[in-house]
Amino acid sequence: MSIAVIEVSRQSVIHNVEYLKKIAPNSQLVAVIKANAYSHGIEEIAQLLADKVDYFGVSRLAEAIQLRNTGINTPIVALEGFFPHDDMWDLINFNVQPAIHSKWQIDVLQSSPLEKQIITWFKIDTGMHRLGFCLDEAKEEFYRLANCSVVCKPINIMSHFSSADDLTSKQTLKQIECFDQFIASIDDKSLIGKCSIAASGGTLAWPMAQRDVVRPGIALYGVSPFDAPIADLKPAMTFKSELIAVRKHKQGESVGYGQTWCCEQDTQLGVVAMGYGDGYPRSIPQNTPVLINGRKVPIVGRVSMDMIVVDLGIDSLEKPGDEVIFWGPDLPVEEIAKHTGISAYELITRLTSRAKIHYIR
Ligand SMILES: *Cc1c(COP(=O)(O)O)cnc(C)c1O
Repeated sequence: MSIAVIEVSRQSVIHNVEYLKKIAPNSQLVAVIKANAYSHGIEEIAQLLADKVDYFGVSRLAEAIQLRNTGINTPIVALEGFFPHDDMWDLINFNVQPAIHSKWQIDVLQSSPLEKQIITWFKIDTGMHRLGFCLDEAKEEFYRLANCSVVCKPINIMSHFSSADDLTSKQTLKQIECFDQFIASIDDKSLIGKCSIAASGGTLAWPMAQRDVVRPGIALYGVSPFDAPIADLKPAMTFKSELIAVRKHKQGESVGYGQTWCCEQDTQLGVVAMGYGDGYPRSIPQNTPVLINGRKVPIVGRVSMDMIVVDLGIDSLEKPGDEVIFWGPDLPVEEIAKHTGISAYELITRLTSRAKIHYIR
């Protein structure tokens, strides 16, 4: 029996995949399962989705190798490509499709002694300015990549939005225009493979960005890339633990490190087995709600490594062993994000291995 538990509903993940397919009916789907499937367990989520999606997306070659070693045969895209110290043979041996975003990668491929060909995703920078070729060099580099004998033709083309979560921003339309401009600049259309630009935000809010392949991550897990929850998605994760003590607490007494909270009236405090050692951020402010027996109660004092304290109120009937939910279907992680100023992405992804994952149907 573990205490801090990441409960994952397989059924909700499947529901979300089906929903994404429904709203992007003409696109293939890369299920992005990097960072341990946003803490939902990369191997189990891969097994669950292997015959339901077209690709898996990861950010490190090691993640791809882990998937292959557990028997996953689905195509895998390495969204950040191969890294300077990666072994090129791994791409062939484990059949991984890297993003190609830098000249140095093309240099490596040009001089590669590999015999088999690899499928690549040429990444252009349309405005994120993080990875990818900018428009003035992209065409030349695209042809250089196409001329590498180890590179499979046609070449897939990808980009990434910087602001797809902002429905009022002009940036997304500008990026789409830039993407299309690049594609138009390639005279030999037979070199152009599948095109992909949308992650969750693009898939959900910018249908014209869906193209051949969409790459949702967070939406698979039922979490919105925007501020508010999305009714059609089902949160897959319930992050929970339990009360280990209930204590009477007198008016004027403080609680926790630094005595940051002081009680204005007599009350009962609940001590919960949860802390930043499990990935519940230390910076979470007091008054952030948790759910106990269907009731929201506030955190008081500082989050410590292994415990947090909640104010149960003077009339509380709660007892040690009662379940405490930090987020889940009945307390959206988006609400906690809003309360704490920590994005839902970070909240779910930073959980530590001390929190054990349990799967439910
Ligand atoms: C992480 C990532 C995604 C998925 O992003 P979400 O916002 O979680 O849907 C898609 N594409 C790339 C290149 C990524 O790095």
